[in-house]
Amino acid sequence: MDFQLTEEQQMIREMVRDFAEKEIMPIAADVDREGQFPADNFRRMGELGILGLPWPEKYGGAGADTVSYAVATEEISRACGSHGLSYAAHVSLGSSPIYLLGTEEQKKKYLTPLARGEAIGALGLTEPEAGSDAGATKTTAVLDGAEWVINGTKSLITNGPVAQVFIIVAKTDPSARGSHGISTFIMEADTPGFLVGKIEEKMGLKGSPTSQLFFEDCRIPRENLLGREGEGFGQILQVLDGGRISIGAMALGLGQAALEAAIKYAKERYQFSRPIADFQAIQWMIADAATRMEAARLLVYRAAHLEDEHKTFTKEAAMGKLFASEAAELACYNAVQIHAGYGYTKDYPVERFYRDNRLTQIGEGTSEIQRLVIARQILDNR
Ligand SMILES: Cc1cc2nc3c(=O)[nH]c(=O)nc-3n(C[C@H](O)[C@H](O)[C@H](O)COP(=O)(O)OP(=O)(O)OC[C@H]3O[C@@H](n4cnc5c(N)ncnc54)[C@H](O)[C@@H]3O)c2cc1C
Repeated sequence: MDFQLTEEQQMIREMVRDFAEKEIMPIAADVDREGQFPADNFRRMGELGILGLPWPEKYGGAGADTVSYAVATEEISRACGSHGLSYAAHVSLGSSPIYLLGTEEQKKKYLTPLARGEAIGALGLTEPEAGSDAGATKTTAVLDGAEWVINGTKSLITNGPVAQVFIIVAKTDPSARGSHGISTFIMEADTPGFLVGKIEEKMGLKGSPTSQLFFEDCRIPRENLLGREGEGFGQILQVLDGGRISIGAMALGLGQAALEAAIKYAKERYQFSRPIADFQAIQWMIADAATRMEAARLLVYRAAHLEDEHKTFTKEAAMGKLFASEAAELACYNAVQIHAGYGYTKDYPVERFYRDNRLTQIGEGTSEIQRLVIARQILDNR
C-alpha cells in the first residue's frame, strides 16, 4: 500500500491516521447526520500542523511535500468525507493560490493564519452560469482609486459559511473575450457587502458546508490582487491541477474505508452456515475493488510526486482524480452490495461512503472535464 513512501511520508501517515482514528472517525456519523462543520477538529488540525502541511515553516506550515499532503487528505477522508473535503478545499483551494501566486506580504498576512488554523480558507470560482466553463465568470472587479470593487454571485462554494479568507475569481477587463481578462483576489469575510447565501442541502459530505456567496460593492484594497491582473484564468487552472490531487486523495480515503468495511463484514456475516467471504461472488467484488484502489493510489501519488519534482502534472493529476473517483465508486458500490440490506441502512457506514464519494466525480472538474483535459494533453502533445 505504501509504495515508495519515504520514512517522513510514512511518519506523517501514522500521525494523521492516529489523529483521524481517535478524533475524526468516532464523530463522522454524527457530523453527517447533524450537518455540522467540525470546527473543534479543524482547530486541533491547525495545532497539529495538518492545515498548513505543504507550506514552508516560515509561513506557519509544516514544510512537508505534496505526497505527504495527499497521504494526509487520504487518511482524513478515510475517517470522514466531510472533514476530507473541507480540508482539501482549505489547503488546495483557499491557501495554495496564496502560496503559488502571493507576494511576501500576502503570504505573511493570509497564508500564515490559514496554515496555523486561525482562519479557514475557500475558493469562489463557480457561478450559477459558470460551472465547467469557469472562464465564463460574470463576477466583476473594477478598480476605484486604491480599491477593487467586487460585484457578483458565486455558487457551490466549500467552506463558504465558515471561511474567513476567500480567493475570488472575477472579470477585470469586460472587453476581453472568453476566459481572458480575469483576475484573482483575496477577500476577507468581514468585508462590507459580502454575504453568505443559501447553504446547500447535499446528498453527502453534509458536515462540509457548501454555499452561495454574494458580493454587493465589496471594496477590497488594491494590494489584494493575487498574481497578475488579467491572468487569473491560467493561474486558477494551475491551482485546480493541485486541487485534483487532493480530490483524488479524498477518493482514495473513501474507497479504502469502504473496502475495509466490506472485508470486515464479509468475514463476520454468515449465510448458508459459512462466512459470506467464502463465496466467490463476494471475493471477486473485493478483489476488483482492491485492485482498482491500489492502481488509483499509484496514479494519485505519482501526480503528487511530479508536483514535488516541479514537473508538469496536469495530465497525471486529471488521470489520478478520474481513476481514483471511479475506483472508489466501485469500492463503495461493492461495499454496499456486500452488506446488502444492512448496507442500505444507516446501521453501517458504507451508505455514507457511497454518498460522500459521489462528489469526487463532480467537484474540481467533472469526470467528463477530466477526460477532456487528459485527451487535450495527449492530442496536443502528439
Ligand atoms: C459539494 C461541492 C463542493 C464544491 N466546492 C466548490 C468550491 O469550493 N469552489 C468552487 O468554485 N466550486 C465548487 N464546486 C462546484 C464544482 O466545481 C462544479 O459543480 C463543477 O465544476 C461542475 O460545474 P456544474 O455543476 O455547473 O456543472 P456543468 O458545468 O453545468 O455540467 C453539467 C454536465 O455537463 C457536462 N459538461 C459540461 N461541459 C462539458 C464539456 N465541455 N464536455 C463534456 N461534458 C461537459 C458536465 O461534465 C456535467 O455532466 C463544488 C460543487 C459541489 C457539489
